[in-house]
Amino acid sequence: MSTTIHRTIRIENADNGSTIGQLHITTYSQKERTARAIKMLALMWGLAIITLFIPLAHFVLVPGFLIAGPVIAYKRYQMAQHPSKADGECPTCKQPLSIHLEPSDTLPMWSYCSANNDPVQLIDYPQGETNTTSA
Ligand SMILES: [Zn+2]
Repeated sequence: MSTTIHRTIRIENADNGSTIGQLHITTYSQKERTARAIKMLALMWGLAIITLFIPLAHFVLVPGFLIAGPVIAYKRYQMAQHPSKADGECPTCKQPLSIHLEPSDTLPMWSYCSANNDPVQLIDYPQGETNTTSA
């Protein structure tokens, strides 16, 4: 079961307006990281076996998936936590804001308010974690 950490962030717009928001960070335990890595390895090697039966393409796909398996599994294992979403209030239109984040996203970053597409910047707030909940 992954854990979600909430961290306070600042949401700014281009006109220096800012509000306070929350960053949701998903964290994985040692056991979960291992399980996620093994799942990815099994998926990649499973694809290698499936693509074995595709004529011609198997010359590229099979070694590709065999190599990609451990590489992607290792990357997955290394990822102990990643941002999942940010919410708060848009500094421009004052509407509630919820931005889905990709695991590779890092703050500070620019995004758009979901209500009016206002450009907003998510900035790390130097305060640390506020609370933890299990998800
Ligand atoms: Zn807005």
